[in-house]
Amino acid sequence: MTQGTAVRLRHCAKTFAGGRQVLQPLDLDIHPGETLVFLGPSGCGKTTTLRLIAGLEQPDAGGQVLFDERDVTDLPIERRDVGMVFQNYALFPNLDVAGNIAYGLKIRGLPRAERDARVAELLAMMQLEALAERRIQQLSGGQRQRVALARALAPRPRVLLFDEPLAALDAQLREQLRADIGALLRELGTTAVYVTHDQQEALALGDRIVVMGEGRIAQIGTPTQIYQRPASRFVAGFVGQLNRFEVRGHSGAEVAVAGGRLPWTGAASTLFCRPEHLEPSTTPAHLTGILVGQFFQGAHSRLLVEVGTGQPLLVDTAQHVQAQPGDLLHLNVRPDALFTLAC
Ligand code: ATP
Repeated sequence: MTQGTAVRLRHCAKTFAGGRQVLQPLDLDIHPGETLVFLGPSGCGKTTTLRLIAGLEQPDAGGQVLFDERDVTDLPIERRDVGMVFQNYALFPNLDVAGNIAYGLKIRGLPRAERDARVAELLAMMQLEALAERRIQQLSGGQRQRVALARALAPRPRVLLFDEPLAALDAQLREQLRADIGALLRELGTTAVYVTHDQQEALALGDRIVVMGEGRIAQIGTPTQIYQRPASRFVAGFVGQLNRFEVRGHSGAEVAVAGGRLPWTGAASTLFCRPEHLEPSTTPAHLTGILVGQFFQGAHSRLLVEVGTGQPLLVDTAQHVQAQPGDLLHLNVRPDALFTLAC
């Protein structure tokens, strides 16, 4: 297991030619060995942040990038000891699979025997042995990305950087490779920074997630914290879906909302919960509405329940619900599932 490197960004802003500041001053500590995922909508600055860490971009004056407390701000990518994996693979078409994996070892001057041993190790690790002599053009997208990953890992980089590595793959392959990358990162213990706009990928891979919006950090937290206790409507809306309840009145340990009453003691004008935190009930419950839609989604069903607001509640349930559209449906909210959002 490799000892991970601590990566620090100190006051890293980025202004491109023309004066557009795409990154507000960013301070961030990435812990040794953790996988930190940057998640956010297109154009929010995720890739720019990754490129600052890689040494492919320089921060504005005053910004610093530190690896284990060493200032690497002025070092180009080839002197930072990072491995990168891109969406478009960026493999060398003139080299075969083994040649691609060996590339970084060759330019570091590793002796032939050691190089061959390391390439063999990577081919085995990435289940690419049978493809060692294949040309890149003869590989599927998933195989190409395995080669790209093997090439990035071969020189044992201090930091691994991933820029939307699965975005070009189909859903099933994406899930498979995502699981493989997750297992690999846990096993290697290398510090990894992973950029994606896919919330499932972020929740599955991140030890912590940085949600970004418009060049700034909207929230940093574990996947559970981000999902269950989002810091703002932007984060809550970007990671998962939300039900929203306008509070009409307070009485004791309950608040009145459209469709019924919810257990809540604090002061709040709007409450939220996730679709899986509403549960159909056969007896009168917190809420009552009319079923207006029902969609089978495999392990669960998505129900749409109208409570008179014009914006149906979203309910994800593993229960087999007998009701038909137009029927009344009772819903309970799970304990501790409600939350407020300050902004
Ligand atoms: P995406 O998921 O679409 O790649 P992102 O969150 O990774 O988005 P960035 O690629 O970091 O976003 O880009 C942030 C902003 O900076 C965008 O508005 C982009 O157009 C702009 N930008 C990126 N690179 C440059 C550049 N070299 N020159 C000028 N503007 C740039």
